[in-house]
Amino acid sequence: MTLKIKQKIPLNIKKIGINGEGVGNFKGMTVFVPGALKGESVYAEIINVEPNYATAKVLKINKKSPHRVIPVCDIYKQCGGCQIMHLAYPQQLKFKQDLLKQALQKFKPDGYESYEVRQTIGMKKPEHYRAKLQFQTRLLGEKVRAGLFAENSHRLVEIKQCYVQDETTQAVINEITELLTMHRIPIYNERQFDGIRTVMVRRSRKTGDVQLIFISSISVELTHLIKSLTEKFPEIKTVAINIHSKKTSEIYGETTEILWGDRAILEGVLDYSFELSPRAFYQLNPEQTEILYREAVKAMGATLEDDLIDAYSGTGTIGRAFLGKVRSIRGMDVIAEAIADAKVNVPDGIYEVGTAETVIPKWLADGYQPTALIVDPPRTGLDAKLLETIVAAKPEKMVYVSCNVSTLARDLVRLSEVYAVKYIQSVDMFPHTARTEAVVKLVRK
Ligand code: SAH
Repeated sequence: MTLKIKQKIPLNIKKIGINGEGVGNFKGMTVFVPGALKGESVYAEIINVEPNYATAKVLKINKKSPHRVIPVCDIYKQCGGCQIMHLAYPQQLKFKQDLLKQALQKFKPDGYESYEVRQTIGMKKPEHYRAKLQFQTRLLGEKVRAGLFAENSHRLVEIKQCYVQDETTQAVINEITELLTMHRIPIYNERQFDGIRTVMVRRSRKTGDVQLIFISSISVELTHLIKSLTEKFPEIKTVAINIHSKKTSEIYGETTEILWGDRAILEGVLDYSFELSPRAFYQLNPEQTEILYREAVKAMGATLEDDLIDAYSGTGTIGRAFLGKVRSIRGMDVIAEAIADAKVNVPDGIYEVGTAETVIPKWLADGYQPTALIVDPPRTGLDAKLLETIVAAKPEKMVYVSCNVSTLARDLVRLSEVYAVKYIQSVDMFPHTARTEAVVKLVRK
């Protein structure tokens, strides 16, 4: 049975898939329908056909899900930053727990049928939770605009107001676009111009302090702009510039320089404060990070006899949560600025710049024997070489903090050869998006 583009079909939606889209089956063929919900019957038009699946758009919903809600955001459809805002929040949490189960079912790590996948811990008020924005800047007509690129394109969707973004960071970027226009600062464009490509704005939950980075293909003169901006927003403590001249889709180039203000701002989580420099990664949802870290500490069950590795450490905030609970702490990250922060944030910790897959084998070769390991990798998951190292060294206790259910389930296939998966706790770090975060407790078999 082959489906054709423009063909119109009735479809029952069986589940919500990994990108938040409805998934149905038409005569043996899997059909993805963005915007449709589990339990709905839709009339849809095929817009793309691949060998194993097709994609369709909803023409009409014949039977509506009782959990369908009207999205609170005006640009929800064009923006693409959120994918499941049309699903009631309690159901979003169930969906995220279900995504973990779907991924386990697909990769089948050892004993997966009996893993305890715990209910997702959600937010009381799932609004304005994103403490950091990274908006693209483009000149449209006479005005500089900032926002996100629509999916798979370089077409800017301007964002002047956002339901999930911290309101101060939004006000700051709105002012920045005005000032960039007014001061006629050069703005980047793939084909023609050099100038500012992206702006990062982040606000500390603890102090309210704001830091920002202009990411530009060339060096630009920002003195007057910075003066007006910091007068209007006294909470801005750091303004930096990152030069990124390559034509890649990476957000940042290699060098970051502070143009104005302090090296780092102070942020806090659990009962401690820590330094955060503009270029370092830190969790996007500081409120839920409290819960994530608390769950990570609980899952580890560390004692004062443990020697802990905090891999993919960022600024060492996870390691810091174990201070006083373990004998020693080591960690690593590829971002030098993050490691500079980690060295301040984790007294007596040993933090190094480098990849987990090179630094950990080096430590082991030097005779260091960790008894506890926590990993918090980016969406790509663990490197194959690192998996081999872990399986060979087998620290007794391990916690895997994951932001991608697919790479998590894939990595568990190898890890479950030597570790038993005690439970998986999902935590909602990104309400209204299809993204999930999970803490996995592993114990050596
Ligand atoms: N644990 C930190 C950061 C987690 S995000 C926190 O809770 O905030 C993932 C981190 O992994 C980022 O800081 C990124 O710079 C780092 N990273 C990416 N690839 C890496 C690799 N191969 N080895 C070590 N760190 C890496």
